[in-house]
Amino acid sequence: MLVLNNKNKGKVILAGAGPGDPELLTLKTLRYLQKADVVITDRLVSDVILEEYTNKDAQVLHVGKQCRKGASTPQSTINELIVEYALQGKLVVRLKGGDVSIFSNVLDELIVLKENQIEYEIIPGVTAALGAAAYAGIPLTAREHSTAVRFLTYYKTDLLDESYWKEIADTNDTLVFYMSSDTLGSLIEKLKNFGIGKDKHIAVIEQATTVLQNVYSANIYDYMEKWGPQEYVSPTLIIIGKVAALHNQFKWQENSHSKENYFKPVAKNGYAVSRA
Ligand code: SAH
Repeated sequence: MLVLNNKNKGKVILAGAGPGDPELLTLKTLRYLQKADVVITDRLVSDVILEEYTNKDAQVLHVGKQCRKGASTPQSTINELIVEYALQGKLVVRLKGGDVSIFSNVLDELIVLKENQIEYEIIPGVTAALGAAAYAGIPLTAREHSTAVRFLTYYKTDLLDESYWKEIADTNDTLVFYMSSDTLGSLIEKLKNFGIGKDKHIAVIEQATTVLQNVYSANIYDYMEKWGPQEYVSPTLIIIGKVAALHNQFKWQENSHSKENYFKPVAKNGYAVSRA
């Protein structure tokens, strides 16, 4: 392998873009976007960030993943693109929805960066749980409601074992489920079967922090009757716990009542270039 002098190599900025509202971007990421040569972005990043906040001369590559719809850019392609541009000496911003380290493939990217001795920085972003909690008026660890919060996923129904279900049905920790709107019915059933308390509420937040946000909420025992089985617009986040009831009292955003998509669907094959 040809090992280039570090000076000839570029640098990779692994940055979180926040959950939707473009103004939730950090100043640090904004500054890098304004200097970037190449931006390699996930699907769940606002177009406003790419069109208005990013260097007009930067090349923008879309490498989304969307499991339910079956279209995604393979992680190996993403890794290759990052390495290829960095080895050309470019400043590459790898933008991820929400925060870099929550339910993302950042580890794979870190491994290839290390292997290729490419310099990098990691910049956090507002993860969906925190964005949704704020924009739905749900303090996640509100006094006398909960003393901890857990970030979980249930995108496959065999992900959590029975003893874990029992434990999360019993706990007073606030539970936040990512990537789990397709399995919501089963998730509620499981928690009810394991005897979750009658004082627990659930809030389902579609397209949180965007102008298309919708929040559906109810006591966990009444939710399905109230809202029925339905297809939620991606991305959707689920918050369960006593705190979810606070939404009724403290919400400050009206529902959009829209089922339009804020984020564009992913490219069918490989990746898409919106600006070369
Ligand atoms: N790294 C991201 C999470 C990626 S996993 C973060 O820190 O937020 C993708 C999942 O995140 C989605 O399936 C959804 O559950 C959640 N998500 C991301 N953005 C969201 C948004 N604006 N509204 C609701 N859920 C969102």
